[in-house]
Amino acid sequence: MSAGPDSDLALAFRAVRKSYGRIRALQGLDLAVPRGSVFGLVGPNGAGKTTTFSICCGWLRADEGDVDVLGGGPFDAARHRGRVTALPQDSALGRDMTVREQLVYLGRLQGIGAREIRGEVERILELVDLKDRARDRVRTLSHGMLRRVGIGQAFLGDPELVLLDEATNGLDPRQAHGIREFIRAQRGTRTIIVSSHNLHEIETVCDHVALIDRGRVVMAGPISTVTGRDAEVRITLADGPVPLAETRAALTGDTVEWDAPARTLTLRFQEKPGRAAEDVTGEALRALLAAGARISSVARGQSLERRYLEMPAGEPPPLPPGV
Ligand code: ATP
Repeated sequence: MSAGPDSDLALAFRAVRKSYGRIRALQGLDLAVPRGSVFGLVGPNGAGKTTTFSICCGWLRADEGDVDVLGGGPFDAARHRGRVTALPQDSALGRDMTVREQLVYLGRLQGIGAREIRGEVERILELVDLKDRARDRVRTLSHGMLRRVGIGQAFLGDPELVLLDEATNGLDPRQAHGIREFIRAQRGTRTIIVSSHNLHEIETVCDHVALIDRGRVVMAGPISTVTGRDAEVRITLADGPVPLAETRAALTGDTVEWDAPARTLTLRFQEKPGRAAEDVTGEALRALLAAGARISSVARGQSLERRYLEMPAGEPPPLPPGV
């Protein structure tokens, strides 16, 4: 797995290890992030997400394994400056600068030319809805506004790979929604890696996801595969008949499970040409309705939250003595 110059991967990690003293933060992490994807990195506290981001940006070096950023090997300022940008978890901004000055400064550091920077900063101020605070000092901003400055600086210029650690943390619902819509709209134009504990956010914004735990990838792939959208349908029934036999007869070859307390039927099937999830859902609903069942809801796959909760919980093991 390599993100060579012509590769369709924006980022590749292979068997990456990183320890802080005796703490093993990454224990053979494999990641393959397709170019143009919005890729979610999900995992419990201490799973290694920030460490992964820090290695991508060159703030840390891996102890072992291969890291390939945009086909140019591990992060190297000469190759990657301005092409890879990040919103760190705790971004430190110059508190005595105005918002506009701060963005100009950061944009210049990213290599944006003196001619372009003014227009570029105005575009970003608009994007993160901070035009009316552009002349205020950074220290006078609320937590959510500071976050928006951080998000804005990550989109200055035309970066190919953007890393957003907990981007919408602390934003009010309207601002968070706006930022999510913006990130989603970037699909196909650049690669964005998002880490978040908000699984609904990951599910709505991202097209790919990796669940990581204790420094390893537990599950990864397109969101539809990870959540089983193309292989599972759940139908919840209201009070009334539960025509299980009729549904099973209509769906021979598929698995039909009944969860009585939740009053939910789970259908598991393999999509085939000419028989997509929509067709299976239709067959099941016809059988259920013909037998008098009352449908409360129909859902495709499991939520990402359910997949996440299936991961075993635990702390990363310390290094053995003497290592
Ligand atoms: P969170 O969701 O809490 O932000 P995370 O997935 O980003 O967690 P990391 O911050 O990468 O996880 O931490 C991975 C492991 O490395 C944790 O056990 C953490 O305690 C440890 N760690 C991280 N940074 C350091 C450091 N500077 N010194 C020592 N240990 C560290």
